[in-house]
Amino acid sequence: MKTAADTRQILDSLEGQHPDADTELHYQNAFQLLVATILSAQSTDQGVNMVTPALFKRYPDANALAAAVLAELEPQIHSTGFFRQKSKALVGMAQALVERHHGEVPADMGALVKLPGVGRKTANVVLGHALGVPGLPVDRHVLRVSNRIGIAESDDPVVVEQQLCAALPPERWIRASDTLILHGRRICRPQPRCDACAVSDVCDYYNSPAARVEPKGRPNSGNVRRRAARNVVKKTPPKPKKNSPKKKAKPSRGTPRVRHPRR
Ligand code: SF4
Repeated sequence: MKTAADTRQILDSLEGQHPDADTELHYQNAFQLLVATILSAQSTDQGVNMVTPALFKRYPDANALAAAVLAELEPQIHSTGFFRQKSKALVGMAQALVERHHGEVPADMGALVKLPGVGRKTANVVLGHALGVPGLPVDRHVLRVSNRIGIAESDDPVVVEQQLCAALPPERWIRASDTLILHGRRICRPQPRCDACAVSDVCDYYNSPAARVEPKGRPNSGNVRRRAARNVVKKTPPKPKKNSPKKKAKPSRGTPRVRHPRR
């Protein structure tokens, strides 16, 4: 794995390539970002941005959302997918905010992850973007890109978060996450565009001969190099067993059979 100094330099280069890196979700306060981030699971940010203006108008705060009727909420978020689970999570989250936090979003990881529908990644997004608390959200893009480059080494998002946070000062965490997410969306996709990448000269994946023969589009997550190495092992046909009787060759369909006349 790269050193902390290398990681910082790599992030410098990537931030230069993506100076506009930021969350693409539209929001005006922590509550709206929390709602939008819950909706973004298994959906695109653009898809979420389509439904949130009307949603925030109807449910402007935790008190309003806590009193929402599921049958009315579900059609409003239907297009983001998994609308039944998300509706329950949104109402449960809002009720918990009202009951435990006076309707406010707490600026605390421990309290956030106890809310229904809120995991560590969602909590880090809200902390880092809306509450001024350093956080480094690790999604599938951060996981894939950081493992390929070699600035992290694990399939576990929590471990990758720890490794990246250890290498970067807290004030860089949220920007680093946004940058890696954008790099994963634009350049280091499942089928990477390495020719357009600002860090290809130091990327472990790009510079690993084993990884570079990996079938395109396959390396989706962490241990790409190990998996790539497996892919280059040549398959050799099994050797015939010693002393095994040779099978008689069957006549092919086209072979004419000799018929003996009856006596
Ligand atoms: S060189 Fe290729 S694999 Fe490495 S970070 Fe860039 S796009 Fe991803």
